[in-house]
Amino acid sequence: MNLRKLILTNNACYKAGRTITPQGIMLHSTGANNPWLRRYVGPDDGLLGVNRHNNHWNQERPDGRQVCVHAFIGRLADGSIATYKTLPWNHRGWHCGRGPRGSGNDTHISVEICEDNLTGAAYFRRVYNEAVELCVYLCGQFSLTEVDIISHSEGFRLGIASNHADVMHWFPRHGKIMDSFRADVRKELAERAAPVPAYEIYTVVKGDSLWKIAAARLGSGARHPEISELNALSSGTIVAGQKLKIPK
Ligand SMILES: [Zn+2]
Repeated sequence: MNLRKLILTNNACYKAGRTITPQGIMLHSTGANNPWLRRYVGPDDGLLGVNRHNNHWNQERPDGRQVCVHAFIGRLADGSIATYKTLPWNHRGWHCGRGPRGSGNDTHISVEICEDNLTGAAYFRRVYNEAVELCVYLCGQFSLTEVDIISHSEGFRLGIASNHADVMHWFPRHGKIMDSFRADVRKELAERAAPVPAYEIYTVVKGDSLWKIAAARLGSGARHPEISELNALSSGTIVAGQKLKIPK
């Protein structure tokens, strides 16, 4: 993930200054063929590039609308993919309107993916992976899991968002749905939670004995039973090239 920060301090949403306790993440996509971050994030920080129309969202009412999100994913001027944090994560965003059961603005961190023309497979793969990584990071920050991640369209069905189709008008074109997105986040979360093995691997060389290895690696030859136990050795015989786990 290439996470950068440019808070949209001129946006009326930022100025409203309300905060939330994030209880989930809502995925959006922009609904316009413009993968360049500079369309939405500005002014140019040397990486975004110049928005010649000056219509980015760092202004009171972008495109005349009351709208602001927590992060954008899209292209930098050099074509590489980045995430821009555009509101503090616990700021109340203006991203999903409301439904009969309330508003996701009060509960959800909003992530907006810049769309291309929806057909670019390479671009999709890169922004999709960036979104997975961002969500994994945010889950860690706010004690969330993949089940707390929804799309705008799912938010509408849950009664907490306006009737928009994103991101489900786009993801299925590239073989993905929200369930696969959540599965990909879950996989990454599980990998990160996996315990770090409390041993290192040592390869036996000619002339080694368990006593010698324990003396060199553990500081005392008398600790050799720890190596025997960790490796379930039934005798003290070891051979050159054998790989042994050494306790850390
Ligand atoms: Zn949306």
